[in-house]
Amino acid sequence: MAFSGADGLLYHEIDLATGSSEDFIYHGRSKLADIQGSSTTWYHSDPAGSPLAATNQSGTLLWRTHYRPYGEKLVGATTENTQWFTGKPHEDRIGLSDYGARWYDPVLGRFMAIDPVDWMGRNTIHSFNRYGYANSNPLKFIDPDGKVPALAIVFGGKLLEQIAIWGGRSALVAIGAMLAEEIQSDADAEKNVDTLGPGDYADASIPARGPERDFTKEERDKINEIGGKTGCHTCGEKKSGTKSGNFVPDHQPVSALNPAGKPQSLYPHCIQCSRIQGGQVRSQKAKNTKLGEHSTSKETGSEGRAGTNAKAK
Ligand SMILES: [Zn+2]
Repeated sequence: MAFSGADGLLYHEIDLATGSSEDFIYHGRSKLADIQGSSTTWYHSDPAGSPLAATNQSGTLLWRTHYRPYGEKLVGATTENTQWFTGKPHEDRIGLSDYGARWYDPVLGRFMAIDPVDWMGRNTIHSFNRYGYANSNPLKFIDPDGKVPALAIVFGGKLLEQIAIWGGRSALVAIGAMLAEEIQSDADAEKNVDTLGPGDYADASIPARGPERDFTKEERDKINEIGGKTGCHTCGEKKSGTKSGNFVPDHQPVSALNPAGKPQSLYPHCIQCSRIQGGQVRSQKAKNTKLGEHSTSKETGSEGRAGTNAKAK
């Protein structure tokens, strides 16, 4: 008798003939361990949740296996484990895997029955194929329950999974935006852009009325116009990256580093550079605190650069 969760994973199994039972422990969608009485088997899985190897309590390798893209197991492992490609229970006797709603043939790469979920306007091409598996892209997608494909991505050591594209496209978009942002901020961190002062792409600016961020529509329009022409003043990006589509009006010199209240100008900033600036302002302020009064020369440095804002381009 088997007990599965709503996530389609097998959690507990009882052998009714012998009365012995087994618990299955997961990390995300990947099986981490089988616990049977006092003995534990550890599993080592790929991002899609397919076990590649198992070790025992003393760390000895028990078996190792690998798969073709659609899940055909290439080397026999053990009969002890029954969950294989993407962690689904596989019945050796019939050569099929149990995906919950449907049986799947990893040799054919096709389900054995039509999708119980109807054709979906949001997945026009792939949901026409009523037997298809994981949008015909088994390296990128998994199918947690035999109904709807989901993404399996490893990023930054985290397993981001269970994002049903067609069930929760907004979640996918959010994840995508998060990844893009992480990649972008990593890239920018490597470039070591300096946001404390008008950047390499700074062209026109408008005077700031003060350090407040209470921008008028006219000010926003003007900043967007400059941003549309010459891009983010730090990185040159022509897309603001903000939800509203507005460039962030960036005070230069940066308000937090302008204690004397010197006149400031507004330049268009993209969302990434604006975030990077947050960190750079914090670290600069920390440095200033350490160095004491003399560090104000750094601020006048950026002020000096602000003075050259009418760069020829
Ligand atoms: Zn930028």
